[in-house]
Amino acid sequence: MARLPETIQNLIEEFNKLPGIGPKTSERFIFYLLKQPTEELDKLAERIKRLKEKITTCPVCYNFTDTVPCPICSDSKRDQKTICVVSESPDVIAIEKTSKYQGSYHVLGGVINQIEGIGPEQLKIKELVNRIQKNGIKEIILATNPDLEGESTALYLARLLKPMKIRITRIGRGLPMGSNIEYADEVTLANALAGRGEMN
Ligand SMILES: [Zn+2]
Repeated sequence: MARLPETIQNLIEEFNKLPGIGPKTSERFIFYLLKQPTEELDKLAERIKRLKEKITTCPVCYNFTDTVPCPICSDSKRDQKTICVVSESPDVIAIEKTSKYQGSYHVLGGVINQIEGIGPEQLKIKELVNRIQKNGIKEIILATNPDLEGESTALYLARLLKPMKIRITRIGRGLPMGSNIEYADEVTLANALAGRGEMN
């Protein structure tokens, strides 16, 4: 079988690293790109390059942002005394799409996962505790995914934050076990937020 040119092969390998992209899709991307004018490819390359130059993490909530602090943390109309704790940035986008939440967020940067060697110290948990202590937070909504790692992370946080005398809630059971907040539909997610239950 004839081998693909090395330039194509190398780019296929790069696309293959993207989540949800297999070799077939990578090939389709490349043959699509080959048909585009050079200016389009330059624009794409430039935008990829800009990503890490322009986007940083908010020093308050650790969500991705191009302004510091991020638009949510600097919005005085939002309830800055309520923090919704999520594992990753796409969860913030999913909850924002419901238009039913007016508080702030805290992005942990993952979940506790023994097998993958991710402990509490690798997540933004220390930063969350500092934030609660400094800002007179009233409520923490634990909105990690309703799967094994998400549940154990929520449980860990509930125990850790218990002595801090604040309201600690967990998003409701409307979300099926093993599901993912990022892919939940807006109505289910809004219901899960509204139906949050006390953990302390
Ligand atoms: Zn922020």
